[in-house]
Amino acid sequence: MADLATDVRYIKGIGEQRAKALAKLDIRTLRDLISWFPRRYEDRTVLRSIAELPEDEPACCAAMAAAAPTVTRVRKGMELVKLRAVDETGALDVTFFNQTWLKNSLRPGETYIFYGRAEGRGTHRKMTSPVVEPEGRREVTGRIVPVYPLTAGVSQLVLRRSIRQGLDACAAILPDILPDSVRRDHQLCHAGFAFENIHFPTSPEALDLARRRLAFEELFLFAIGLQRLRERRVTVSVPPCAAVDMEIFCKALPFTLTAAQRRCVDEALADMASGAPMNRLCQGDVGSGKTMVAAACVYYAVKNRRQAALMAPTEILAQQHYKGLSPLLESLGVRCALLTGSTPARAKKSISAQLAAGEIDFVIGTHALITGTVEYADLGLVVTDEQHRFGVGQRAALIAKGRHPHTLVMSATPIPRTLALILYGDLDVSVIDQLPPGRRAVETYAVPGSYHPRLYSFIRKQVSEGRQAYVVCPMVSESDEAPDERKAVTEYAQMLQTQALPDLRIAFVHGKMKPKEKEAVMSAFAAHESDVLVSTTVIEVGVDVPNASLMIIENAERFGLSQLHQLRGRVGRGQHQSYCVLVSDNRSEETRQRLKVMTKTADGFRIAEEDLRLRGPGDFFGQRQHGLPGLRIADIGCDAGLLKEAQTAAEELLAADPELKTCPAAAERIAELFAQAADTLN
Ligand code: ADP
Ligand code: MG
Repeated sequence: MADLATDVRYIKGIGEQRAKALAKLDIRTLRDLISWFPRRYEDRTVLRSIAELPEDEPACCAAMAAAAPTVTRVRKGMELVKLRAVDETGALDVTFFNQTWLKNSLRPGETYIFYGRAEGRGTHRKMTSPVVEPEGRREVTGRIVPVYPLTAGVSQLVLRRSIRQGLDACAAILPDILPDSVRRDHQLCHAGFAFENIHFPTSPEALDLARRRLAFEELFLFAIGLQRLRERRVTVSVPPCAAVDMEIFCKALPFTLTAAQRRCVDEALADMASGAPMNRLCQGDVGSGKTMVAAACVYYAVKNRRQAALMAPTEILAQQHYKGLSPLLESLGVRCALLTGSTPARAKKSISAQLAAGEIDFVIGTHALITGTVEYADLGLVVTDEQHRFGVGQRAALIAKGRHPHTLVMSATPIPRTLALILYGDLDVSVIDQLPPGRRAVETYAVPGSYHPRLYSFIRKQVSEGRQAYVVCPMVSESDEAPDERKAVTEYAQMLQTQALPDLRIAFVHGKMKPKEKEAVMSAFAAHESDVLVSTTVIEVGVDVPNASLMIIENAERFGLSQLHQLRGRVGRGQHQSYCVLVSDNRSEETRQRLKVMTKTADGFRIAEEDLRLRGPGDFFGQRQHGLPGLRIADIGCDAGLLKEAQTAAEELLAADPELKTCPAAAERIAELFAQAADTLN
């Protein structure tokens, strides 16, 4: 008998090959499979006549094949299958590329359902590569069809069929995790109905019911798990830090801390003096001055005779922090060191020895800080910068180098309160909601691709004034597959260098380059040895080139607002008026709205809220920084009411049954979901 932990290969029709492909989506068990929720749905229930087919959106029609299909070979490796289909209102000419097998399965006189975008108007229409199936089969037409997130080697069809089989295999064994009383009190449907209809909804209403139930369940388990984590946390106690004269630190700064920075510092210092380990998230918009908050904490810890470590996700960032912080802190008697992957072996050894002997107070670095050989005499404070770039394991590994060190996580992704509560319920949050004085907003425009000639002139103008520009290059992929970033970046840079801007110095950087190469390109750009830097989003994280005044983002519709905001934060860091141009040919209302938000506001928190409202939280973080389970279906933006309901239900259950004795299935699931988080926090 199967259970949800059964390997997907158990399902008939899923062999080695397909299991391997599914594993790329982290789908390994039956549970993973049926919990792979659709990204969206296509309503293919409405049948139109040929004459009625809309021009601008895909639709279904039933039509009879008027003759046998014809096959033409256009060139090597490209064959067209053409078919004329008719109904009583008109004719539809259908073309398929490289689907030669259709030749034998489409028979004259039979009626098929076609789903696609019809070109032209009137009674004679065309469709290219529509979805097609015989009338009455209802697998991909005539119903609401799920559309799944994909990866290479896994098609919609494969996922749909696998999930269909998965659901059938699970039907009899699907446990209802929610206690009956909770289900009844909150009018939620049964698990079986929910899983069936989230994938293959029988109606829009059924889909709503399914989604509500699954979102509730997710939020409910999440709330219980978080509550239990919080309870565990308070039990550790550590020696409290003693008071330190922070005026000495403040006087050494070239500027006065903003009120918001001061508040964050005060909150963090209070934690460290409390006798329990600090577990704090410091959130602040790009440029809000998080580094100085961290520096203050480091100073405080070191004056308490503890060591501190700051871990950055990239070598470039670590170096920048080192260059920025070590002169200041050294002048205050803090012994600093930089330790990264490219630190020479001998220096590494000596730094390790000094760390172990307590002769270095503060070390800045990359994940080199957590390699097995590095030991600390008394690591008392761990700071991680731009933490969403770290895996849970990495942060945990650094923490494990000390005995319950204080931790400060700095995030440049402003998170709306509702979301912070969910995602960081196990952390205390400080917000730097104020920028240092004298910043000028980055002028932001949204333009179509036809503006390219003008954009190139604009780049040239900025460069002639001594400035530099970033171009985030287009990354278009044919299907839902990941695009080839190396190719995209190098081709675009080459086009700029040979055609559009041959007189400028064009450099490029992408994620597939070795860290050393990236580093070299970035430092050269920072030293103004190139004028234009073409890149993917690798420049998103914290790089500081104050002379750069222009950011052009191609295919802007592909990015989340928060990500656009991060990218834009790369300019406007110096005294020059800066510009950000969002290029997009996508004319959908949604894109228009989203890009408009960017042109109208510079406030990261507002942007994050809009992002959340428009897209849901899915993309806020690549992955689960703290080992907290991700939310797969609940949408904190839209489900705020449901979140409250679920939280209340969780509190009530915990009050009545703190050990969850009455609902073992839920207890077991929570233990699984939070296993990683529990490890991290220990
Ligand atoms: P982020 O929050 O993006 O990490 P940084 O810490 O890099 O921001 O700070 C951005 C810039 O602002 C740095 O050049 C820093 O020296 C400067 N800065 C930080 N705090 C202040 C302040 N209170 N007044 C003026 N400039 C500041
Ligand atoms: Mg920073």
